[in-house]
Amino acid sequence: MYGIVKTHKECGHVSLEEVPKPVIADVHDVLVEVHSAAICGSDLHAYEYIPSYQSFMKVPVVLGHECSGIVVGVGKDVTEFKIGDRVMGESNIYCGKCKNCREGNTHICEHNLMRGLTTDGVMREYVVFGEKNLHHVPSNLSFSEGAAAQAATVSVHGVLRRFNISVGSTVIVTGVGIIGLVAAQLARLCGAGNVTVVGTDADMATRMPIAESLGFHTLNCQKQSIGEYLQDSIGDKADYVIECSGAGSAIDAIPTYIRKGGEALLLGLPGREVSFKFADIIRSEINIRTAYTSTWKDYEETLHLLGSGAMSIAPMIKEYSLNKVEEAFEAGVSKTVLKPVFKFK
Ligand SMILES: [Zn+2]
Ligand SMILES: [Zn+2]
Repeated sequence: MYGIVKTHKECGHVSLEEVPKPVIADVHDVLVEVHSAAICGSDLHAYEYIPSYQSFMKVPVVLGHECSGIVVGVGKDVTEFKIGDRVMGESNIYCGKCKNCREGNTHICEHNLMRGLTTDGVMREYVVFGEKNLHHVPSNLSFSEGAAAQAATVSVHGVLRRFNISVGSTVIVTGVGIIGLVAAQLARLCGAGNVTVVGTDADMATRMPIAESLGFHTLNCQKQSIGEYLQDSIGDKADYVIECSGAGSAIDAIPTYIRKGGEALLLGLPGREVSFKFADIIRSEINIRTAYTSTWKDYEETLHLLGSGAMSIAPMIKEYSLNKVEEAFEAGVSKTVLKPVFKFK
C-alpha cells in the first residue's frame, strides 16, 4: 500500500512511497481504510523541515494526523464500531497512565506520540486506531470534512474549554487558517456581539474572501492597526483576542488593543521565539490563556457542531488526488489554499 512520506531531513522531499500495511495488534484496535487525509500546519512545517521541528520529528515518517475513512476490521473486544462505519481518528496517542491522562487531560499527556511527526501518520491507505481514539462522522459530512474536523477540534478545545466569551462582547481573531475561522464561528455561537477576523496581505487572495463569506468583519492589519480599526468601528478596545497565527508581531500587539481586564487565548504555535510585553499585560491585568490540541469530548462536540450545521469548514477545503502531492503541499505553504486534502479513495 501507499503512504505520503517525508523521506529526507531537508526542505521538501515528500513523496508517495510503498509502506507496510498495518495490522490489528490489540483487541481494542480498529483498522480504517483512509478515504481523505488533510494537510495541517504542522505537516507544512514538517514539509519545510523548519528548525523547531528538527529536534523531535522522525525521518523518514508517514506524514499527517487528520484522516477519515471506513472501518474495515475490528479487534475482538471492539464494541462501539463495526465494519462499514464512517469514522475519523484523533491526532495524538496518549499513554493513559500519567497524571494528566488520569485527570482526563489526555491532550497534554506527558508521553504523547504525535501521528505524522514522532510516529508514522495517517496519510496512507490504511491506519489502525484504538477504539477510544475514534469517532463516528455524521452522515451529512464528506470524508474530507471528517478529516479536516481534526483541526476544528483545536478551536473547540480552546474556545469552549479554555476560554469564556461573554454575550455581546467584541472579539478579535488573528490568523485566517481553519483554526482561526472555526474559532471565529465559535465566538459567534457563544454570543459575541462583534467578531473581526484579522489577516495580512498574504491572506487577501483566498482566505479573507472565505472569512467574509462566513459573515465576519475582516481587517488587513498591514493596512490599518487593530487598535485604530477598533477605535474607528466601535470607539473602544476589544474584550477578547483569539490568537491563531503564531506570528510574533500578532502576539506582541495584543496589549495595544485589548481593554484592561480583557482576555487573550493563544492557539497559534509560533515557529520561532517571540517576545511579549509583560509589563503592559500585567498593568492591564490581561488574562492569558493557552490551548493545545484536544480531547475526546472536543472531537465529539466538533463533529456535532459540524453535522448540525452550526458551523462549517466545507468552504475551506480543496481536494487533491495522490498524483499531486507536491502541488498540495506548495499550495498550503503559499497560503493559496486554506485546507488541502488528499483523496485516497
Ligand atoms: Zn499520559
Ligand atoms: Zn491538525
